[in-house]
Amino acid sequence: MMGCMFEHYSFGFDGIECKVGEEDKEKRCCRFCNTTGKSNFRKIAHAIPEALGNKLLFCNEECDSCNSRLASVESHFVHLMDIRRALCKVPTKKTSKTISLYGENFTLLPDEQGTPNLYVKREEVKHKGNGWYSYHLKNSSEVTNEGIYKALVKMVIDLMPTSELTHFKNTINWINGYQTDRNLPSVFYAVRSPEERLYLQPRLDLFFNTKQKYIDSPYCTAILFTVDIQYIFVVPFVDLDRGQFKYNEQLLEHWKRMFTMLTPRQWVGQNTSDTNPAYTWLNFEFSRSNKNVHILDGADKIFKKYKTEEEKWQLNNHQFPLFEQKLITVESVSNVCFENLCNRWVSQRELSDVSINHNLGESSVEMDTSNNSVLVNLEFDVFNSDNTIPFFRCKGKVKLEVKSMEKFILVTENNDTTNIEMDWTFYKSVVLKSAKAIEGKMRKQRLGTPFVNCSFEAAFDNERLIRAIKVWYL
Ligand SMILES: [Zn+2]
Repeated sequence: MMGCMFEHYSFGFDGIECKVGEEDKEKRCCRFCNTTGKSNFRKIAHAIPEALGNKLLFCNEECDSCNSRLASVESHFVHLMDIRRALCKVPTKKTSKTISLYGENFTLLPDEQGTPNLYVKREEVKHKGNGWYSYHLKNSSEVTNEGIYKALVKMVIDLMPTSELTHFKNTINWINGYQTDRNLPSVFYAVRSPEERLYLQPRLDLFFNTKQKYIDSPYCTAILFTVDIQYIFVVPFVDLDRGQFKYNEQLLEHWKRMFTMLTPRQWVGQNTSDTNPAYTWLNFEFSRSNKNVHILDGADKIFKKYKTEEEKWQLNNHQFPLFEQKLITVESVSNVCFENLCNRWVSQRELSDVSINHNLGESSVEMDTSNNSVLVNLEFDVFNSDNTIPFFRCKGKVKLEVKSMEKFILVTENNDTTNIEMDWTFYKSVVLKSAKAIEGKMRKQRLGTPFVNCSFEAAFDNERLIRAIKVWYL
């Protein structure tokens, strides 16, 4: 039925292997970075992570470097599914046994036959009566809702026909981390009932509004089926949507239409604009007769991760000292540049919806702890609301001194600078103080342009933007 309205593609439901994109390695062009050349396509890229059980769906047009780089994007969704894929025995590449999982309050290990065995803490088990219990399983991997959304959309980019890609340039920028937006539409999920098919091989359905039959539907909607859950979401930043459909209110009619056409389910909305890390959880119910669930004393050594208790305490309970603004001194401001890219006047109304289209460019924060010195490069481009007309570009460089800087940074694992915890107030203050210093010098450069009131400092009043800046440690 939906085929009449939307151009519909379905992958992975029929056991048929599918490799999307150019077969000839000489002719391939990476969907995420446009790289070409046979030598950059040695590995085969899974369009849906292998950890989710995908053995059929591949993308020819994802280069080796993007394949490894984007694994960190995919990991948000993989971790979200950790408990489900362990309990449902989703096969992985290494073993047909279930994965081992050490959660915050449980341990899941395969037995000799590969069947998942769940170990839970007696103190946290809730009795429901009639021999039934419930347990709030808390995973230990952090994910963000925006990360989950990016991982879902990446699967769509990998599997769509090559001819469609031209409309998804900004979507790809967002996945790559080059673009951020304060507002993103919610995604919806529904848990399938136990009698229904379990998707140990994930399935992805794509719906393109190519016929524009419904003006209140976005260009691309997708449904992912994996294990016992399904996710439905729209793909954001499509050029044909012209900046629409990023607010949930603009999608009410669309969702109403989609939900009536699909099997009735209890759809739950998830706010994807949330960039704060969170733990995933699952409420698990089991009966006394379930031989694969073991209720043990909370002190049992099976609940210990490979880390020592001391390390774990430091990781989870690190309290940074209170950061005070007076610790920061601006040493120098340079390279301040405002460039008007628009050769016509831009109205205030057009400017009310632009701040979301910052293209972060080369912004970076370089921390030199041994010298208490921070070098901040801030740079962004601003476009109109559908990213088609560049408005202006601006940048600046600031050198700061931060007293006792090392107190606000914690290297968590063996001097490995990729494992760093940082005090948020300290980091945010460094960025905001730099933006303010740049604005001090930039303001006069905007005089006489339509952008006279577009404060450089105000642009960074956005935690999402601050988090997206690259951080380097020296
Ligand atoms: Zn690439």
